Amino acid sequence: MADAETHMSDDCIFCRIVDGEIPSRTVYEDDAALAFLDANPLTMGHTLVVPKDHYERLDDIPAAEATDFYGALHEVVPAVEDALDVPATTVAVNNGEAAGQEVPHVHAHVVPRSADDGAGP
Ligand code: ADP
Repeated sequence: MADAETHMSDDCIFCRIVDGEIPSRTVYEDDAALAFLDANPLTMGHTLVVPKDHYERLDDIPAAEATDFYGALHEVVPAVEDALDVPATTVAVNNGEAAGQEVPHVHAHVVPRSADDGAGP
């Protein structure tokens, strides 16, 4: 059930991570977003960036908050590349179930990449 004031959803695993009810390996946090390591990494350091408020799809985020969400990505992407010492990242959003979105809380995958790592989409 979604709460109109906080946009939290009780049955959402990523809301529960944001709330600290489920442990995660946090790599970045600001007022609007949280980034943590993916439990099933495609490559070492695979990170998920989520808005703290619960929105199912990228296009559900109000414009002002979308700017904050992009701001978090703008911090996390170079930090992941530096930390893993890789020249590139794949940054991807599965936007909707038919696109492979399994967790219905917006999240951007930040996958550390290097040439010929075999992790391409
Ligand atoms: P897909 O599983 O097809 O990539 P999504 O785009 O919805 O679908 O991605 C959900 C991601 O969330 C997966 O990469 C999965 O490993 C990750 N995940 C699920 N539960 C957790 C968790 N508790 N902590 C960290 N990552 C998680």
